[in-house]
Amino acid sequence: MTASTHYDCIIVGGGVTGTALLYELARFTDLKRLLLVEKYDRPAQVNSHAHNNSQTIHCGDIETNYTLEKALKVKRTASMIINYAVKLPPRDRDRIIHRMPKMVLGVGAEECSAIRTRYETFKDAYPRMQLLEREDIADLEPNVALVDGAWRKDRIVATGTPDDYCGVDFQALSESFSAQCVRMDRTGEKHVSQLYGTEVTDIRKDGSRYMVATSRGPMLARSVVVCAGGHSLLMAQRMGFGMEYSCLPVAGSFYFAPEALNGKVYTVQNPNLPFAAVHGDHDIKERGKTRFGPTALMLPMLERYNRATVRDFFRVLRMDHNVAATLWNLMKVADIRNYILRNFLYEVPGLNRRLFVKEIRKIVPDINAGDIEYAEGFGGIRPQLIDRRTRELKMGEVKIIDGHGIVFNMTPSPGGTSCLGNAEQDMRLVAEHLGARVDWEAFERELLTGHEDTRHVQAEPVLAQAG
Ligand SMILES: Cc1cc2nc3c(=O)[nH]c(=O)nc-3n(C[C@H](O)[C@H](O)[C@H](O)COP(=O)(O)OP(=O)(O)OC[C@H]3O[C@@H](n4cnc5c(N)ncnc54)[C@H](O)[C@@H]3O)c2cc1C
Repeated sequence: MTASTHYDCIIVGGGVTGTALLYELARFTDLKRLLLVEKYDRPAQVNSHAHNNSQTIHCGDIETNYTLEKALKVKRTASMIINYAVKLPPRDRDRIIHRMPKMVLGVGAEECSAIRTRYETFKDAYPRMQLLEREDIADLEPNVALVDGAWRKDRIVATGTPDDYCGVDFQALSESFSAQCVRMDRTGEKHVSQLYGTEVTDIRKDGSRYMVATSRGPMLARSVVVCAGGHSLLMAQRMGFGMEYSCLPVAGSFYFAPEALNGKVYTVQNPNLPFAAVHGDHDIKERGKTRFGPTALMLPMLERYNRATVRDFFRVLRMDHNVAATLWNLMKVADIRNYILRNFLYEVPGLNRRLFVKEIRKIVPDINAGDIEYAEGFGGIRPQLIDRRTRELKMGEVKIIDGHGIVFNMTPSPGGTSCLGNAEQDMRLVAEHLGARVDWEAFERELLTGHEDTRHVQAEPVLAQAG
């Protein structure tokens, strides 16, 4: 196999992670030959598609499973999306980020007390965040606080922002990164190429370079970053990296209701099940609809609605006694066991709406099963990793780095929000490996200032998980 084309860096996968990295490498480094390869015809057709995720910029204020320390790190990377978008022409900005009310709702005495305590801890770090009593909630979200014009029966309190950028179309964001790269390719002396409809079939080390086999022939690169969701682990393991991991794909589905909410209403997370609490979101693409979910169902495929990826799932599951023990340990926790069972039933036609509506009633107390419909064709897959050494289910993103120029990103939630922060880490790794220069001043100007100045917040260190 001989490669006809040579690049400084090849990025595999054109979701929000891959396109954000292409944008940062093209915009802030002096690398001259960059390529992104994506198997579908357009960017963001898998988890970053607007139908397939909850469209939330997670900045840490309403995620009750985050400590303040974790929240501040997330805030920096979340702000990068807003800082990027507010500098675009208003028409482009408004396709990507959306203002609306946002809150985390406490229901009942215990949750209300937890919300009030959390507010005291978080209020200095989040000056826009307010404590919302039931009257304030009724102003922002009448269907949450009132039933037929009277107060709902349970005690409620929330923290949140009445009007802030918290909705995002990750697909539009990916398209924007891609369009900026097309412009840089046309106008500068850099080659910033994007090959859509091109599948990567193999990656091999070839001396100090990487040979990337694609459906359009082989390509050669000095560094490679794989941003292919669950398929990143498959590609890593084919090269002998990340053998300590197994992948557990957790599908998330949604239910639609006619416009029930004006913005985003999250609920308090169960510490045993972080990110599992149901939420309601004003959909930014489907007009007049509120989306509730996501559910969480383990599905044996790496890409939702793509049966060809069932085989890929079994390759990365690599079932052994450690994986079995991890799953068994999860099933031993009653909260998790019940949650898994409930979520299985949420997919059973006929039964699903009647069961799921009970969850939604925590947010909108007088909603009925007849008001909601299963959102057919919506939802994606979160590629959660199991660390077979520690028998632990990893909750966030995982990066596998070989230290010789190749990086693999696995990006479950909130991977959309972290796209620019994740790209910053990868840009640093690629630049260090290739001895490239990064224009950090331009980076700070464009991504760390604008809507929110986060120049003083330390970037999260790269958590090297060497293969
Ligand atoms: C139900 C649900 C709700 C979510 N809600 C949120 C949220 O509200 N906020 C948030 O921040 N995050 C959320 N997430 C997570 C977020 O959607 C993902 O973290 C993010 O979209 C990941 O982007 P990505 O580019 O890494 O992966 P993807 O968008 O999945 O892109 C991977 C790309 O790689 C390509 N690819 C794969 N294999 C190959 C190959 N062999 N050759 C070429 N290309 C290949 C695919 O075609 C795809 O385009 C949610 C996820 C789910 C499932």
